[in-house]
Amino acid sequence: MQQPIISSSKILRMALPSPLRRLFDYLAPDDWPIEHLKPGVRISVPFGSRTLIGILIDTPEHSDLPTHQLKPALQLLDKTPLLTPSIVNLCLWCADYYHHSLGDTFSIALPALLRRGHDGRLAEPHWCVSVTLDDDLRKQLKRAPKQLAAFETLSQHPKGISRPLLASLNINSAALKALHEKQLVSYEMLEPHKKLPETLLHEAPLPLNPDQKLAVDEISSNLHHFKCYLLQGITGSGKTEVYLHCIEQVLKQGKQALVLVPEIGLTPQTLQRFRQRFNVPVAAMHSGLNDRERMEAWLHVRNNQAGILVGTRSSLFTPLFKPGIIIIDEEHDSSYKQQDSLRYNARDLAIYRAKLENIPIILGSATPSFESLHNAQQQRYQRLLLPNRAAASIPRHELIDLRNQSLTAGMSPQLLQEVHQHLNNGNQVLLFLNRRGYAPTLLCHQCGWVADCNLCDSRMTLHRSPPHLHCHHCDSQAAIPHSCPTCQSIELHPVGRGTERSEEEISELFPGTPLLRIDRDSTRRKDAMAKILKQVHQGSSCILLGTQMLAKGHHFPAVTLVAMLDIDSGLFSTDFRGLERTGQLIVQVSGRAGRAERAGVVCIQSHEPEHPALQQLIHDGYEAFANTLLNERKDLQLPPYTHLVLLRCESSTLQQGQQFLSEVRQIAEDPSNSHSISGDIRILGPIAAPMERRQGRYRNQLLLRSKSRRALHQLLNILVPAMENNPMSRKLRWSVDVDPQEMM
Ligand code: ADP
Ligand code: ZN
Ligand code: ZN
Repeated sequence: MQQPIISSSKILRMALPSPLRRLFDYLAPDDWPIEHLKPGVRISVPFGSRTLIGILIDTPEHSDLPTHQLKPALQLLDKTPLLTPSIVNLCLWCADYYHHSLGDTFSIALPALLRRGHDGRLAEPHWCVSVTLDDDLRKQLKRAPKQLAAFETLSQHPKGISRPLLASLNINSAALKALHEKQLVSYEMLEPHKKLPETLLHEAPLPLNPDQKLAVDEISSNLHHFKCYLLQGITGSGKTEVYLHCIEQVLKQGKQALVLVPEIGLTPQTLQRFRQRFNVPVAAMHSGLNDRERMEAWLHVRNNQAGILVGTRSSLFTPLFKPGIIIIDEEHDSSYKQQDSLRYNARDLAIYRAKLENIPIILGSATPSFESLHNAQQQRYQRLLLPNRAAASIPRHELIDLRNQSLTAGMSPQLLQEVHQHLNNGNQVLLFLNRRGYAPTLLCHQCGWVADCNLCDSRMTLHRSPPHLHCHHCDSQAAIPHSCPTCQSIELHPVGRGTERSEEEISELFPGTPLLRIDRDSTRRKDAMAKILKQVHQGSSCILLGTQMLAKGHHFPAVTLVAMLDIDSGLFSTDFRGLERTGQLIVQVSGRAGRAERAGVVCIQSHEPEHPALQQLIHDGYEAFANTLLNERKDLQLPPYTHLVLLRCESSTLQQGQQFLSEVRQIAEDPSNSHSISGDIRILGPIAAPMERRQGRYRNQLLLRSKSRRALHQLLNILVPAMENNPMSRKLRWSVDVDPQEMM
């Protein structure tokens, strides 16, 4: 490659895809127009022996390095920044808040193809006829009827046509290619049209009930500035309808809406409702897309060719051409927090983004996270309530005491009777069991041996189809032994019950009734979930059996009975958020009952029916349940009353990680450091993680807790560089988790 000429000393400060938490300076070649050098443009630069594509952050006057040590940049990839200023700022803030590399943060914001240098143009061939159709031409094409048909159709469109229309007119590309070779048709590369359609709606919106109207009126009258709403509406109260109405107002103003949802694959209905309602293109972004599709969706939103983006966590970083509103559906869902690499919380970042863009944001849930409830109580968010179901009545709840009952397939006699009754009435029944596989473990009846994972402090789950032992923590697998590895006895018994086993037992009890199992194993194949959902929506009597995948926002109109077979493990979790999650899960699963005309029943089986939190949840509702637990959190100085940072470390020996984190603690407690910190910080650890060994590595953690976020960040500004520079850090893995959701 030709060396660029460098005479000036225009400095480019770049974020590069690297885990290093720093920026890199380069020099701009003379012939690069200064007006193109705006934050957010992509530039390729030499990095060691490689070429990297980075994002321009700044063009400072001075570098810390002398100019002659700076290398010239190689190529300017964009004339205008691909990333809007607010996304650049969002990434800056995000990297700073989560103490992560800025370059890696941008890697999450940009689709892979753009990261690798794709020019971001979506030009496609636009086909036109080059000659007129006459008898000679008809004769010439007589033997090629497909080409003749294609030519005839294309002749009817003198301005030419491109991809989607070509397909719908049944013009195939082979015919076009042949006609092109005969020079009868030609094409030019054109970007798809950019204007959004004039009419916004496909179908008339539902008339709102008074609660919904109050919410929509309030939000619609505040579309021009930042405001955070907590839309707290019970399951089936019509929250989605509120979103749709608010989005309509936003679209009317020529602006766009960003809607985050936990998982699209599980609830294709949500996306469908948006597409059914609106005439404007709705872009979707989720893990099922390939690189090209993901980039297309991203660019459509960025270039204002889509009015709405519905996507999962990382779609939050998609630039909007004209941002109008952000909606976080099921805001309590733990999938908004990324659990590795950049451990960001998309809900929290979305609030910051709404502030940057100066637009409203709606957090919607039937079971708001305690953080959001607390923020609403502190008047930081405005609360909007939907206390009634929009089109159905609230289901009746039954708490069933399992103690001393004889169980059949994990069901008490009372539940069995209910199931029979609902099926006999032609309804659907949903059974919830939050454990996949056949049985949680395999036990030797002679000597007590259990199938442990070799790499983790955990048991291996027994699976029957296909038969194997599987560790759900590290994914390692093993064959099922024929006899006990310790005493050679062949009396090996499955202990406990997972969905596979329940499926087997319950099918035997209800031989004539279809049973649909929904868990990660049964839905692994592409489209498997869609197939199951299709059958459920046909509405005939069946049993749905599954894990928490069933809890997520589904609308099953024919389900009248929901039963939770065993919730006890959720009542005794070691994590301080355990009860919060269990409460949310119970309410969300229960919310699948009786969502249409037919009234619903919810049965909850437990050996601890007197558990006070459970009692309160069922008798007084989620909010009362949450308030009691919030008071406990306050007494114990736990979030949301304090803030946490978890420093994790994985190493090949237990001692290594403990030493590393002990050194971190020493630095934190060094008086010369602590006096520069503006608040009290409690430090706990290093201690072994609740699961001490996982995937063959020992896990330790150091917990930092404070009432002051600022103090925590000040401390991290000292600790993170110290960890990076500690020579031990190369022999182990460590990470920083700001506002951790899992204490594992
Ligand atoms: P949520 O998102 O709160 O669970 P949905 O928006 O899915 O609730 O609404 C639940 C059901 O109620 C849906 O079938 C929906 O069509 C219906 N619904 C919502 N709002 C209204 C309304 N204003 N009038 C009639 N039916 C409604
Ligand atoms: Zn044995
Ligand atoms: Zn394991």
